[in-house]
Amino acid sequence: MTELAEAPAAGRDQQVTRIPHWIGGQRVDGTSGRSGPVYNPALGVQTGAVDLASVEEVDAAVQAAAAAFPAWRAMSLARRAELFFRIRELVHSHREDIAKILTAEHGKVLTDAMGEVARGLEVIEYACGIPTLLKGGFSEQASTGVDVYSIRQPVGVVAGITPFNFPAMVPMWMWAPALACGNCFVLKPSEKDPSASLFVAGLLKEAGVPAGVFNVVHGDKVAVDAILEHPGIAAVSFVGSTPIARYIYETGTKHGKRVQALGGAKNHMIVLPDADIDMAADAAVSAGYGSAGERCMAVSVVVAVGDVADPLVAAIKERLPNVKVGNGMEPDNEMGPLVTREHRDKVASYISSGEEQGATVVADGRETAPDGDGFFLGVSLLDNVTPEMDAYRDEIFGPVLSVVRAPTYDDAVRLANENPYGNGVALFTRDGGAARRFQFDVNAGMVGINVPIPVPVAYYSFGGWKASLFGDSHAYGPESIHFYTRGKVVTSRWPDPATSKVDLGFPQTR
Ligand code: NAD
Repeated sequence: MTELAEAPAAGRDQQVTRIPHWIGGQRVDGTSGRSGPVYNPALGVQTGAVDLASVEEVDAAVQAAAAAFPAWRAMSLARRAELFFRIRELVHSHREDIAKILTAEHGKVLTDAMGEVARGLEVIEYACGIPTLLKGGFSEQASTGVDVYSIRQPVGVVAGITPFNFPAMVPMWMWAPALACGNCFVLKPSEKDPSASLFVAGLLKEAGVPAGVFNVVHGDKVAVDAILEHPGIAAVSFVGSTPIARYIYETGTKHGKRVQALGGAKNHMIVLPDADIDMAADAAVSAGYGSAGERCMAVSVVVAVGDVADPLVAAIKERLPNVKVGNGMEPDNEMGPLVTREHRDKVASYISSGEEQGATVVADGRETAPDGDGFFLGVSLLDNVTPEMDAYRDEIFGPVLSVVRAPTYDDAVRLANENPYGNGVALFTRDGGAARRFQFDVNAGMVGINVPIPVPVAYYSFGGWKASLFGDSHAYGPESIHFYTRGKVVTSRWPDPATSKVDLGFPQTR
């Protein structure tokens, strides 16, 4: 029986559930005396209290992982792959349970939460191919009688530090390839929506992952710093905001770890005058407001080139009333609340600052937010935004879409390239030559051609450029196999059997 995390119920009168750590294959109550509130953002009520780990508790998780490592790395690839197929089946059969936990703590609508689990499952499925992924190279007779071959071996205990906006998928980006490569894992999920990680830990146990191979420590900066400084951790994967990504990269590498740190974003969607306006408007609405804009690949800025601007803004505006905002558990709703009250208020402040700084407020989400205590904001659209405005400069991370008008293709690309972030970018056009030129010109890690959110499939890797990535290694896909392993090259010479003192049946050469 799976040790299920107690998913917060939707009721207003519900008790606050304690959310413990997962160390050495079981739930472990925190001993630090510190905890953080977890909310149901659609109701605006606290549903959980997550234990916040001390340095000693992080150490206990690292010790458990280190103790499990020798046997785990020695497990045959055939058995590890078989185990991953079981993990895949369990996560798949519990995908709705996981999605409900996401909706209850993050707020995203259930269909979106199901989509998150599906994208995480893709990475688990990729990890099922680990025997093929770990194959090395072989050079026979590199020198006379000498063969050279390469192998890749796990790095040891690795840690993942993850953001609130994909509480199941982003951890899967990390633990699935890391475990498949033979490492043991310590996950520090976001303290805002921690229950999904605990639930998944129970599934991994049920699949047969040995105790200590996968651990979860909840926490804040104390736990993060303990991870970054711990001599027993060889590598750290981070996904979150740019200032913290920079800090993680600098501190982790200073302590001798390999670090990949994915940061924030300000994704531009450039619409050329020849684009299909309906297609572009649909894309802008789904990519701008999906998951309440709390996606690192959300479209934040629509760059309307030339005379496409007026009809495009009109087409987006016309679609806004269709985005039904409300509790994500109710099937009709398309957009849920923001994750916390503070975040909702900060996002709303960009509507005021945009207006004060000269933008045209086409739609004001403060006027259309549902009533009640939930952390809701309706959809907002700002037109005539310019690069000096706060709404353009900051990663808003909410349902506020800005439209910048650019006279030409070159102006639009310059805007995207001068932006400090370089996560995702999209071009909408009917012209293949323009699309080809764009993929050559633009400085971003993930490019969409008539695709607003170009998240790569699991067998490519995910990562941005510029302030969206610190380090050189992207998440999941082939780059993750490289990140979670160390290369070793063996140069071997075996004496010619014909020279053996024992008669092996070869004609003797001496
Ligand atoms: P965040 O940076 O606030 O938190 C991420 C993690 O860092 C959490 O586990 C948190 O506990 C920890 N943390 C927060 N403050 C810290 C501090 N001062 N010291 C040490 N650790 C700290 O990010 P968030 O608000 O949870 O997530 C949203 C951000 O993540 C956005 O900027 C978004 O663009 C980014 N994001 C990026 C990607 C990507 O792939 N590039 C994917 C998802 C989210």
